[in-house]
Amino acid sequence: MKIESLVIHGGKDGDEYTGAVNVPIYQTSTFKQEKLGVNKGYEYSRTGNPTREAVEKLISDLEEGQSGFAFASGMAAITAVLSLFKTGDKIIISNNVYGGTFRVLDKVFNHFNIGYKIVDTSKVQEIRDNIDKDVKAIYIESPTNPLMDITDIKLVSSIAKENNLLTIVDNTFMTPYLQKPLTLGADIVLHSATKYLGGHSDLVAGLVVVNNKDLAEKLHFIQNSTGGVLGPFDSFLLIRGIKTLAVRMDRHTDNAKKIASLLNHRKEIEKVYYPGLEEHIGHEVQKKQASGYGAIISFVINEKYDYKKFIENLKLITFGESLGGVESLICHPASMTHAAIPYEIRQKVGIVDNLIRLSVGIENGDDLIEDLLKALEGSEK
Ligand SMILES: *Cc1c(COP(=O)(O)O)cnc(C)c1O
Repeated sequence: MKIESLVIHGGKDGDEYTGAVNVPIYQTSTFKQEKLGVNKGYEYSRTGNPTREAVEKLISDLEEGQSGFAFASGMAAITAVLSLFKTGDKIIISNNVYGGTFRVLDKVFNHFNIGYKIVDTSKVQEIRDNIDKDVKAIYIESPTNPLMDITDIKLVSSIAKENNLLTIVDNTFMTPYLQKPLTLGADIVLHSATKYLGGHSDLVAGLVVVNNKDLAEKLHFIQNSTGGVLGPFDSFLLIRGIKTLAVRMDRHTDNAKKIASLLNHRKEIEKVYYPGLEEHIGHEVQKKQASGYGAIISFVINEKYDYKKFIENLKLITFGESLGGVESLICHPASMTHAAIPYEIRQKVGIVDNLIRLSVGIENGDDLIEDLLKALEGSEK
């Protein structure tokens, strides 16, 4: 089955008992047991719930993995994956990894002496130079947020294998519709399903898929032990969102391509970060490892224009955090998503004050362009 059909019919296709075309919301904490040691496969909803199981099977099918796991947020999913490691272990992470991932490593897992090394994972030599006996995994995002750096997932996975390390990929920005890290050699893929998979800015959820039985058993043990599971109603909403993933991603990407090439030629814009542009440094790798370029665009507004005024001038595009919803969202990384990073480091890596991140929605592309152009034209200093 092709992925456009799999998003609709993958996992559990409807309800086997009634023929309902949707998996019911099993809003229950516990299950009646027939007699000692005999049940219908479910005992308690932290351990397993049929609606959650449906979304877990679905994401596993979409990512072509062995098993899927659903959590109450992307951060709960990431926390579960990081719980695979032990005191003394270190993880190599991408240098502009999601802020919450950095925070949980830096402020929570460091209590357990699980460490990290920050590396520009788009440069493989830097990865090789940082591998030592304590390093147990390479954790990457491709593209990264907000600068859209691309890492060669196949190459990194092969370096990881040579050194007996796990490769973990946060695939939130791409979704399995555009990129399937497990098929490129990664061991674990995870998502903030709050973003494109849910797709409607109406739920918070996280998903993990692993590629082998041993990791699946460990992850299930951690999920059941630590308990950050996704509830039945949110599991249902997530399944509902995923059904339209293919059509949404097509529209997101079409709109983003048009907007990126337009912004790239405007005098008000200094620089555009979008892997779909041929001059983007990661363009060729992205073309090779993914079937599209996604719909996140970052851009630097020229100093002659006032970025605050630009944001205030927008009428259709919403100013707010998050991304991946049907509505276009714009944010200011330096004061919002990346404010926790010290000013000097932000300057050094390129998260300057006049950098803007746009999550292109699925509205009419011309409406979005009109909104952007009017806001830009009215923002001269
Ligand atoms: C939002 C996000 C997360 C965290 O997910 P939550 O659902 O907000 O907990 C992790 N990684 C990336 C790339 C994200 O965009």
